[in-house]
Amino acid sequence: MNVRPPESPPLSILMYHQIGRYPRPDAHRALFCHIDRFRGQLRYLKLAGFKVLSLAEAYRCLFQGEPLPKRSVVITVDDGFDDFREFAWPALKEYDCTATVFLVSTLVGKSADWLPALPPLMDAATIRQLHSEGAHFGSHAMTHQRLSKLSPEAQRNEIFGSKAALEDLLGAEVPDFCYPYGDYDQRARDLVEEAGYRTGLTCIRGSANTSHNPFELTRKAISYGDNLIGFMWKVHMKHERKG
Ligand SMILES: [Zn+2]
Repeated sequence: MNVRPPESPPLSILMYHQIGRYPRPDAHRALFCHIDRFRGQLRYLKLAGFKVLSLAEAYRCLFQGEPLPKRSVVITVDDGFDDFREFAWPALKEYDCTATVFLVSTLVGKSADWLPALPPLMDAATIRQLHSEGAHFGSHAMTHQRLSKLSPEAQRNEIFGSKAALEDLLGAEVPDFCYPYGDYDQRARDLVEEAGYRTGLTCIRGSANTSHNPFELTRKAISYGDNLIGFMWKVHMKHERKG
């Protein structure tokens, strides 16, 4: 399946993790975005005439020939921290934008355990409520492990099991998958396709137009250090795939 030709306008899939009131982090700065900056980014997108697409709309534009708006982005939020409910979602609703949040299926309503001192993750009732309000949810596997390090059976379990569990939770199809840590190999990528997902999202940098296929979509991380100028540079420029 071929992606749209490079002369089409750039479509950026923006990647966030924690959005809230966080002091300047010492490490992992790409995992944080201050809510005031996030609101400023949404305001800018609106003023500059960007369309915030769902991943389904982006897929149709990138791979099925639907016209790609001159300016468009997709907003993705990895891990499903409860700060999404508290900060990001109210802001997204205010600006009439949607986003896709990638959930770790066995950790819904629990604490994230893959880094020290992570905040709690959204619980099932919250996820169902936000889904009813128009938020989209995808799979971030069952246990947030590096898929390339797992046995074939464990890989399959992470990819298929999380889809079934989240579809059960939402009562809706879960068509999008996001590789934990952006880590995947050819087998994981093939299993994502075999499981019936429509997309697989990586942490490879680049405009989504430069992705090799729907199961290796490239993204752009918005970091704590990105001021509005940095953000503008990321959403306006076509960036070739890096990595
Ligand atoms: Zn993650």
